[in-house]
Amino acid sequence: MTETILQEKLGGTVFNALRHVADINKIETYVIGGYVRDLILGIPSKDIDIVVRGSGIEMAESVAARLGNPKVSVFKNFGTAMFKFRDVEIEFVGARKESYQRDSRKPIVEDGTINDDQNRRDFTINALALSLNKDTFGKLVDPFGGEEDLKNGIIRTPLEPDITFSDDPLRMLRAIRFAARFNFKIDDATFEGIKTNKDRIHIVSSERIVDELNKMIMGDVPSVAFKLLEVTGLLQIILPELQAMKGVEEVNGQKHKDNFYHTLKVLDRIVPYTDDVWLRWAAVFHDIAKPLTKRFDDKLGWTFHAHNHVGQKMVPKIFKRMKFPMNDKMKFVQKMVHLHMRPIVLSEDEVSDSAVRRLLFDAGDDIDSLMTLCEADITSKNEVKVRQYLRNFKVVRQKLKEIEEKDRLRNFQPPISGEDIMETFGIGPCRQIGDIKAAIKEAILEGEIENDRQQAYGLMVKLAKEMGLQQQKYDK
Ligand code: ATP
Repeated sequence: MTETILQEKLGGTVFNALRHVADINKIETYVIGGYVRDLILGIPSKDIDIVVRGSGIEMAESVAARLGNPKVSVFKNFGTAMFKFRDVEIEFVGARKESYQRDSRKPIVEDGTINDDQNRRDFTINALALSLNKDTFGKLVDPFGGEEDLKNGIIRTPLEPDITFSDDPLRMLRAIRFAARFNFKIDDATFEGIKTNKDRIHIVSSERIVDELNKMIMGDVPSVAFKLLEVTGLLQIILPELQAMKGVEEVNGQKHKDNFYHTLKVLDRIVPYTDDVWLRWAAVFHDIAKPLTKRFDDKLGWTFHAHNHVGQKMVPKIFKRMKFPMNDKMKFVQKMVHLHMRPIVLSEDEVSDSAVRRLLFDAGDDIDSLMTLCEADITSKNEVKVRQYLRNFKVVRQKLKEIEEKDRLRNFQPPISGEDIMETFGIGPCRQIGDIKAAIKEAILEGEIENDRQQAYGLMVKLAKEMGLQQQKYDK
């Protein structure tokens, strides 16, 4: 790309201010990293990283003063400063040189040149810098052929891959994330470097790993990232449960499908319908217990009996190990895993009202997410089957709507409470109360009565009478 084009792209208030301050202070100043990469790719970016040969903090303060004094946050220990101008975040740092110790991702840092700073970057496409000084404004500083790699779609480390990945193994996940996001190829030597250093991932904190995985899963085609995790050997370390899903077994000429690739298809298929990271994770985990529950039966062929139940139990263990949140998000994923077969089973036969009512009762407010997951789960190659399923799902969705309007079952509150029963019949806590409540719920789910206090009251009186209870008080 010619310098004039880059110069033009570097217009605007922020870059003018940077240029001015760099100039009057005679400080070598560059915009570097992701911003330059995205600029060349034509992707808008709201994070600007500035490197100066000198104090990043002083530079940040001078530039902020020119831009109407937005509040500057200073991180003295790191020698960095940042501020927000309109909706752009600008971070400043002095050019630095880094060296690593074997047991830590934290480098020893010294002041350095722009080239030293580029040497510490993870990939050639992330090491590009553009000068912001007057005489060289817009000049690309590209010591490792990053521009060429961008053009050819290559992820490559600037230095020896073994050193790069061993120094900071998080970079292995970053390589995969960028490859998936831009649809780039990881250069052969870089790829080998990841394979060789995969076990170094152990020195990376779970929080960082999860952060990268979440970014991968929020991509447009997350299967690409997961396939790369698998072939590099990282998946076996990070998510062995998912790795265990790979492969096809054959008995008596009967094969089951490869559940790893099926899962990835479901994940890709759900992407256009949800930006909820947890629903995407639910897609990853929906069949997670298939390897554990797999059996071959002479009559039935391959079965995965109760894999939804077993899977539901696996979720908290995986969440705990990965340091995912152990809160309602985990419960949501569990619920999705547990219920993921219900709408499909339901749509296989005639869709009965009572089955839809039960589904609505069990899924509650998460019913729409569950339906989205189930629709994504239909990956059959048989077009006729797929069409039939999707048609039936439409019926299910329609019935869900009708029944919800009528019976409001999403967040079911029993129309008759335990207290109501105790007061009406002058009894204390006892088994009959539970029995009556359960029978009322069943009757509502079966459609024998509506979800309505009067009808439930009538049924309560009838049931109590059969149990020999005496009514104490009359109520509506
Ligand atoms: P995006 O924010 O779009 O995911 P980015 O490249 O801007 O991409 P950041 O994590 O913000 O990602 O990093 C900014 C720059 O810092 C990168 O472009 C790269 O030059 C450098 N960098 C970030 N993390 C590392 C790392 N672990 N090792 C080496 N360099 C890194």
